[in-house]
Amino acid sequence: LLFSVTVCILMLEKMLPRVILTMARPKTKRKPSGTPLPVWDLSDLLPTATPEVMLKRLRARVNAFACQYRGQVEKLTPPAFARAISAYEKLSEDMGRIYAYASLNRQTRLSDAAAGKLYQTVLERTTDMSAHILFFTLDINKMPDAALARHLKNKTVAWYRPWLDSLRAYRPHQLDDAVERVIHERDVTAGAAWVRLYDDLTARLRFDCRGRKMTDTEVFHLLQSPKRDVRRAAAKAIERTLSAQSDTFALILNTIAKEKEIDDRQRGFATVTAARNLDNQVEDDVVDALAGAVTGSYKRLSHRYYKLKAKWLGLSRMEYWDRNAPLPFAATRRISWGEARETVLSAYGAFHPQLEKTARLFFDNRWIDAAPRAGKDSGAFSASTVPSAHPYILMNYKGTMDDVMTLAHELGHGVHQVLAADQGYLMMDTPLTLAETASVFGEMLVFRHLLDHETDPVARRAMLAKKVEDMLNTVVRQIAFHEFERRFHTERKSGEVTASRIGDIWMEVMGKSLGSAIRPDNGYRHFWAAIPHFYHTPFYVYAYAFGDCLVNALYGAYQSSEKGFADRYINLLVAGGTKRHGELLAPFGLDAADPRFWARGLAVIEDLIDQLEYGENAAKVKKG
Ligand SMILES: [Zn+2]
Repeated sequence: LLFSVTVCILMLEKMLPRVILTMARPKTKRKPSGTPLPVWDLSDLLPTATPEVMLKRLRARVNAFACQYRGQVEKLTPPAFARAISAYEKLSEDMGRIYAYASLNRQTRLSDAAAGKLYQTVLERTTDMSAHILFFTLDINKMPDAALARHLKNKTVAWYRPWLDSLRAYRPHQLDDAVERVIHERDVTAGAAWVRLYDDLTARLRFDCRGRKMTDTEVFHLLQSPKRDVRRAAAKAIERTLSAQSDTFALILNTIAKEKEIDDRQRGFATVTAARNLDNQVEDDVVDALAGAVTGSYKRLSHRYYKLKAKWLGLSRMEYWDRNAPLPFAATRRISWGEARETVLSAYGAFHPQLEKTARLFFDNRWIDAAPRAGKDSGAFSASTVPSAHPYILMNYKGTMDDVMTLAHELGHGVHQVLAADQGYLMMDTPLTLAETASVFGEMLVFRHLLDHETDPVARRAMLAKKVEDMLNTVVRQIAFHEFERRFHTERKSGEVTASRIGDIWMEVMGKSLGSAIRPDNGYRHFWAAIPHFYHTPFYVYAYAFGDCLVNALYGAYQSSEKGFADRYINLLVAGGTKRHGELLAPFGLDAADPRFWARGLAVIEDLIDQLEYGENAAKVKKG
């Protein structure tokens, strides 16, 4: 059932460790000397029995659970209902544990066939088991409000209230069982098929660049080259290839949007963003306030910064392919692992001893795998695994400043996951919009700590500029994407939108966000075709901006707060997924529904750009 599939996907995701990937970092060759890099020890997850025996035992428990509760949920007494939820949680957690083991074991052994086979076996068997107990959450959703209210008088059931609330939020949008079944079965030849077509098409594309046929990853990477002619050649190759396929991309996007429109209408979602907002546990007007605040700040943020960047690059105006060019004064110093560890721990400790104490666990107990090696995943993440174990962090430390920030970021997730573990497996994880709070806040603490200790003006400028660029990519750019989606989906309601018209919408929203320091090149009009989020998960992109702005507002409140902020922040982390943003932010005097909240977050970026501009003007005065 599609509706149930939404729940099902949620539940399946719940089953898998939350793996948050940061953007791929550029590769460097030199290795920092000193402290050896840690390799993790997964034995805390390693079951006492072999995985095969573990899976067999789990299967027996799943069967017993289904046997006991299938068709019985509505007849349970409140204490029996409480026992059923606890049993469901324990079962889900034990499936999550073996999945976490198989998955993490594979992340450092990607070319090892046995590790791959174990992972695939565990994935298939746990997916099948979770489908077998899916009835439980569906039956809870069929329960009348009055019956649930009776259950909630039980103390144990009341403990699970946040989980029950998020489950039941989908109830008003659920269709009849028969309709849901048809939608679900048809999906493989409908929505899912179009997404697959997009993926296949993109994977097959080749970009003719400087005499070589490149994949999309290769050619897009060249847009970050320090050489201008390389960036230009890459951009022109992308233009040519995307433009040749733009009618096909437009057809796919139109079809996906039409299916979404039918679905929204049937399920009673009033706006194009409403279904996504429900997934993210955020109200429509809050998202509108965020988008409004960001679009209203383009002049003060991106327009101003790109003017500065053009000057640094020695250009009167940048082309769109200069936007991601490296800065001429970027830092190159190598930082040892020991120094990185001490930097992060002391920045965390200066904020709150609890933060440092929790972060230290990761270093003292081999919960981090930081050594780059062949066959290891090239990204970075913190996997929450299960509350009865602990999180694990994977990254590839090569000693750049970016790597130190990645460590700060992942430890932010890790500390959050440790502190929220008491909420239990069903309620420890936050929705997407809040998932990046602790990581981005942790990065901010370390960034400020380093900035405060840096006396060299050029190094300071490089740090500030890098931070601003990251923030503009997360906040301004993603909200421009969001505006594009909103306009496209709204126009699609009254008929198909041609590739050329989609290009017009793209150029208009992107032009507004980039400002006059970047020349509007007509070749850029096809680049909407290359953003996978538009096809995979419509209206996903604003969550990035939401998370970043929220942390900025929180950080702004920290800078102007008296005592007690750090304790309140620890409480926010401990709450895990049990509270929505309104409840979480209230103790800080913050309210995301208030447009001033977002203005406060954006002011933090503005302040960094002020410092960059001030540095420029001071240099000018000195020279003069
Ligand atoms: Zn993250």
